Amino acid sequence: MKKLTCHCGGVEAEINIDNLEKIIRCNCSICKRKGTIMSMVKNDDFKITKGSDKLKLYQFHSKVAKHYFCSTCGIYTHHNPRINPAMTGFNVGCIDGLDTFKFENVSVADGQNHPLDKK
Ligand SMILES: [Zn+2]
Repeated sequence: MKKLTCHCGGVEAEINIDNLEKIIRCNCSICKRKGTIMSMVKNDDFKITKGSDKLKLYQFHSKVAKHYFCSTCGIYTHHNPRINPAMTGFNVGCIDGLDTFKFENVSVADGQNHPLDKK
């Protein structure tokens, strides 16, 4: 189990995961602006335990993906990706005790050329 907190502490979540196996960055229009590194779990393995009323939802383009951030401190906490809304991507930097600058196996998802945008 890992605990996720936004910067101000208003939002907390529990993530049912022991090791972050796949860590990604993404080059899509929103992720490149956020610059965060992310990992993924099934929705059932991600529970907001505090401050769900503080979360703001942001959507754009196809409006399928749900991007959440804390309305107080502005930090991106998690999202449900368009490619699979049954999954939750979360901000690895929001997990206490992890040095996000030490990960060496961060892959880059090509969200700029999203598969669902191809005709
Ligand atoms: Zn906050």
